[in-house]
Amino acid sequence: MHQPVALVWAAQRAARGEPRVAHWREARASISEIISALGSGVDDDAAVLQVLRLKQSPLVDFQFAGTTQAGAESARWLDQQDPLLGLTDEAYHLLSERENFDEFARLAVKGLTSQQSLVILEYFNVFSGFGEVPGVPVGAVFKDRASLVEHRVHINTQWGIIGTRDRGAESVVVSGGYEDDKDYGDLIIYTGHGGRDQDTGKQVDHQSFDARGNAALVTSHVTGVPVRVIRGADAKRKNSHAPSYGYRYDGLFQVESFWQGPGQSGFRVCCYRLVKVSESTAGWDVVTDVASLPSGNVEPGRTRVTRSQIRRARALSLAVKELHDYRCQICDARLTIKGLGYAQGAHIRPVGQPHSGTDTPDNLLCLCPNCHVLFDNGEIVVNDDLTIVSSQPNRGLLRTSHDHVINLDHLRYHRDLFR
Ligand SMILES: [Zn+2]
Repeated sequence: MHQPVALVWAAQRAARGEPRVAHWREARASISEIISALGSGVDDDAAVLQVLRLKQSPLVDFQFAGTTQAGAESARWLDQQDPLLGLTDEAYHLLSERENFDEFARLAVKGLTSQQSLVILEYFNVFSGFGEVPGVPVGAVFKDRASLVEHRVHINTQWGIIGTRDRGAESVVVSGGYEDDKDYGDLIIYTGHGGRDQDTGKQVDHQSFDARGNAALVTSHVTGVPVRVIRGADAKRKNSHAPSYGYRYDGLFQVESFWQGPGQSGFRVCCYRLVKVSESTAGWDVVTDVASLPSGNVEPGRTRVTRSQIRRARALSLAVKELHDYRCQICDARLTIKGLGYAQGAHIRPVGQPHSGTDTPDNLLCLCPNCHVLFDNGEIVVNDDLTIVSSQPNRGLLRTSHDHVINLDHLRYHRDLFR
């Protein structure tokens, strides 16, 4: 899953003003460090694979003689040759400017699956298209759709929903004139696209969850990554929450649920319940694991974390779930919603006061919602030998992976909470 890590490593060198190329032996440690921080234990083999894959990138200068070796030989081959690797001259110079770094990182992860690229970009604090746009505060007003595009707030002048089924939705524009939209301020019932007459905006056919934007909003619900909401001026002045002029960025909203129902016209429309993410907790609220922690006092911990910590926590949770392919480590269930894997990242030792659990892979489990609730409430605990203790006998062992090792101290702390 870490295919672009080595590329981002190379890009980071340029952004930091470090020399363009480095020898493999130097690169190995840094790349392993990044992989480890993203949730899979330190693993030299993984770094080897990353580097060998770089050869295929047109952005990379990989200086070596002869042919590379496959499989187990590749590590030895790299150690012997100790080739120089880094970005091409052109890419390196492009990246000497920090603002180009963001642009570059987005290009670098293009073509990867959504979750993979999100993990990478969030980890490096690069604007991924999702979440807040750097430098654009809530309440910012733009004169027209072109200006929204220019500021990367909503990157298409025609579409109401930016996003794809694979990546989820980045942003939506709520504009007056859609008969089934309902705007209550911090709650919006947003309807999807399709089936409308282009001239009148009236519904003349059914909508489908297969349509690009509608599918994207379903994905946003499943992943829990919030969506930017932009309200457009309502010429008919029917919506009191709409701005009087232009388009206003109104913050991040969570897609809390979706359904299909009859619209005013009688056709079936795709509906989404969008709920505003409070500004002080933006970020945490999209980490599914925090919402269902047993204690109600995670708040003190929230206010102290920085935005970058929040992003890392989210990236970490995604990485752990990806590593387990969304399969529950306790009961092995793999849930899917419209074909997308769904699981929750569960802290073993709870984060926040008074427990102060850490946001590290060794304190995170990938669980189904049932097991998450049972675990958080002490109905399931795990022994040092990884046997699962619950009211149901013979649950077997907690499934782990050599890339994801659990800290036994955290399991012990969790057991002690419910002794
Ligand atoms: Zn489970």
